[in-house]
Amino acid sequence: MAECQECPALEAAWWEAESGGDKAKAAEALVTARRHWRSHMAEAEGAPA
Ligand SMILES: [Zn+2]
Repeated sequence: MAECQECPALEAAWWEAESGGDKAKAAEALVTARRHWRSHMAEAEGAPA
């Protein structure tokens, strides 16, 4: 989603934790990002929120 402000923010948070060697934080950030991406997919399919 190019117009989404959250996607780059979540990706940046994940990458910051990953590059900082904080595996627990990186895993948590990835879960948060994936949940957010799933919400985009639901939107694309026209499913109600
Ligand atoms: Zn997004």
